[in-house]
Amino acid sequence: MIPEKKWRLLPEDTFLGWTPYVWLVYLPTLFLTPFIRQDSTPVWVATGVVCAVFLPLYFRAHWARGKELLIIIAAIALLGLLLAPFNYSAFALFIYASSFAGNVRPTRVALMLIASLSVLVTIEATLAGLPFLAWGWAVMFVWIVGGVNTHYATVRRSDVILRRAREEIEHLATVAERERIARDLHDVLGHTLSLITLKAALASRLADRDPARAAEEIRDVERISREALSEVRAAVAGYRDAGLARETSNVRTMLQAAGIEATVDIQPVAVAASEEAVLSLTLREAVTNVVRHSRASACTMILSDDGKATRLEVIDNGTWKRGPDGNGLGGMRERIEAIGGSLIISHERGTRLVVELPHPETQSLQASVQQRLHVVA
Ligand code: ADP
Ligand code: CA
Repeated sequence: MIPEKKWRLLPEDTFLGWTPYVWLVYLPTLFLTPFIRQDSTPVWVATGVVCAVFLPLYFRAHWARGKELLIIIAAIALLGLLLAPFNYSAFALFIYASSFAGNVRPTRVALMLIASLSVLVTIEATLAGLPFLAWGWAVMFVWIVGGVNTHYATVRRSDVILRRAREEIEHLATVAERERIARDLHDVLGHTLSLITLKAALASRLADRDPARAAEEIRDVERISREALSEVRAAVAGYRDAGLARETSNVRTMLQAAGIEATVDIQPVAVAASEEAVLSLTLREAVTNVVRHSRASACTMILSDDGKATRLEVIDNGTWKRGPDGNGLGGMRERIEAIGGSLIISHERGTRLVVELPHPETQSLQASVQQRLHVVA
């Protein structure tokens, strides 16, 4: 079902959010001059009409790009030009125009527009013989607001470019990975399976005539298929390695983006697929927590194996925030315990999260010791 498209005043934009509504608080100041000077009705009416024309332009400007945006900026400036001789609070409209000028690309054109707006205010005020105090503030804010918006627009554009680049990299990595798996499958299995087929066919033909040679061929088939099996295992181990390796590089990027210094000491370890999946998820959740909660400046990740157990440590130098165990830590603990591991979280300086996955021999040894203790008890 296609969701019903709702009519909106402003574009759905997390960067802007509700702030455009806040900036409208300056609009009523247009009535300040008529109020102070106790102006006649026509001035009040003209100001009201200008506000009514301005509002749709204001909201439309948040959607507009390119030529349309330029036209809206010109229209808002024109409203200012028309009203200012009668009501110099209308110079505030130039500030709105300048704030939209900040969004114009390229930045050079945005700055030229801002400069033109400030020149317009100056010329009009001078021609109308207005005292500097009546319009100086407008020129100042045209520059301040326009300048700040130009800056934000630039930051925002580079943000979008960065996000696209990251998506592109992720996509390319997936494609490369898929190609590698296809290549490996072909290389590892294509050749051996044809060989096995040939030898098996030969053996079946020789079965009656020369049983001794047929048996030899079958032994070859056995050897070749064993070799193929170990090659497949090695290849699969390689993919698993890529799982943890990729997660490590992802969390490193995440820490970098958060301005947290990352130290990574990942030793090659031999783990089962299920263990690797748990370690990857744990690493991701632990580092996400460091980024979200710890306010740390540095984070260390260590993966090691002392012969008895595989150990993953994530250590940060921030501060532990007391809070109920959320889904993150709860789920992490469940997953680890389900495969016979343990999770210890300690807080001395910052947080230290240690996952231990004992090797199967150690696990069965522990179980049998426990069993014996049980019997003794
Ligand atoms: P969530 O992240 O959804 O809040 P979690 O179970 O992942 O849930 O974490 C529970 C709480 O533990 C967090 O809300 C936070 O208060 C605290 N916490 C977890 N990890 C850290 C950390 N590295 N530094 C500081 N506080 C943390
Ligand atoms: Ca979390």
